[in-house]
Amino acid sequence: MASVSESFFEPVVRVGVTGLSRAGKTVFITGMVANLLARGRMPQLKAEAQGRIEAVYLQPQPDVTLPRFDYEGHLAALTGDDPRWPASTRAISELRLSFRVRPAGFFASFGGPRVVHVDIVDYPGEWLLDLGLLDQSYDAWSEATLARLAKRAEAAEYVAQARAEDGSLRLDEGRARALAGAFTAYLAVARDLGRVDCTPGRFLLPGDLAGSPVLTFAPLPRPATTGRGSLWREMDRRFEAYKSRVVRPFFRDHFAKIDRQIVLMDVLGAIHQGPRAVEDLRRTMAEVLGAFRPGRNGWLTGLLGGRRVERILFAATKADHLHHEQHPALTAITAALLAEAKSRADFAGARTGALSLASLRATVEEVVQRDGESLPCVRGRLLATGKQAAMYPGLLPSDPARLLSPAREGAEAWLDAEFGLMSFAPARLTLKPGEGPPHIRLDRAVEFLIGDRL
Ligand code: GDP
Repeated sequence: MASVSESFFEPVVRVGVTGLSRAGKTVFITGMVANLLARGRMPQLKAEAQGRIEAVYLQPQPDVTLPRFDYEGHLAALTGDDPRWPASTRAISELRLSFRVRPAGFFASFGGPRVVHVDIVDYPGEWLLDLGLLDQSYDAWSEATLARLAKRAEAAEYVAQARAEDGSLRLDEGRARALAGAFTAYLAVARDLGRVDCTPGRFLLPGDLAGSPVLTFAPLPRPATTGRGSLWREMDRRFEAYKSRVVRPFFRDHFAKIDRQIVLMDVLGAIHQGPRAVEDLRRTMAEVLGAFRPGRNGWLTGLLGGRRVERILFAATKADHLHHEQHPALTAITAALLAEAKSRADFAGARTGALSLASLRATVEEVVQRDGESLPCVRGRLLATGKQAAMYPGLLPSDPARLLSPAREGAEAWLDAEFGLMSFAPARLTLKPGEGPPHIRLDRAVEFLIGDRL
């Protein structure tokens, strides 16, 4: 907890960084922190452009029970002799970055520099999906989940197993484990297929809860009798424990304290996978963003008690896969993907923005001549082979509806276009003193998130 004097004299801004798995959270935080410690590539950060930032430094975080974001380890992976992408976000972590800034304008004459602490909180977007569980009973959740799974080929095995189970029989821990294991295996396959509604959120990202009874449940049809000690009753109890011991504490202890939020999305990855992945991403993001519209959930509204996230930035990551000519189209698609979720309540007064960025630029731009046409490409080192290659990912339409409409209508493939995507490895860097790793629009993102507090 910040002491009263600390919060009075040295304000704290808590910045949440979230997004679904592989959206780019780890690379974003690493790139952002590196570029705030060495600000040579941050011209759009106003306090920096005005020469008011005297120092930025890492400090011990206030919450001693949370894992610290492994900034040094991740940076070493990205900037070593053999650069690699770092290990992704698996659970919540935190990092405190402190700024010593001189005040701007009118206040400049009142004394010396002040200190602003920025606490960066990294957490999986999947955890926000769990908010929807809070209003559901085990019975209703099981029924809805089994109905959804019945339409999915990859869930056939689990559904058959669940239907064959007699929940009225006495709990046998081995059976419970086998069911939870099979359900988790289904979730893992669904995720690998690009499905994004893989809840409960802790099943795939259990952190230190792996193997505990609170994660040893699975959806089961309700049997005619559910006596004390029966499998179904015990699963019900664990589902309730998951809500009260896992989901609620996360929202109460972490989510409710966030002041500013960035939500990262791998929009290009979804476009590359096809219309179904784009539609899945749209639906899941609408659900994830439900957490930012208190009012929808009574418990959360009570918890927040009028407090709300002041700014939310939606960012399409990995924009270095596109020539900059195409960045406005990517941003427009990202904004359109969220349009419906946004219009429902406009996030209760929060200021929102959308942009496309690359936290670590792994490519350079290049124009390639093909059949008398100039194609705006990017070039980089391929992750698979280590060889250099130029990529033309296809032309994103400037009208987002050209992608979003077929996605909504359930098209199997894009009609008139194909969107290729190659995975690039991070490039080997030689940085000048004072310069952070290359990026695209990280400075704009930081300005949106905390510029007004510096
Ligand atoms: P997380 O699961 O949200 O923490 O995702 P990560 O930050 O680990 O990113 C997942 C993967 O996306 C990385 O391993 C990279 O392959 C890729 N990636 C993330 N950011 C960038 C970027 O700025 N440029 C490129 N080219 N790839 C990126």
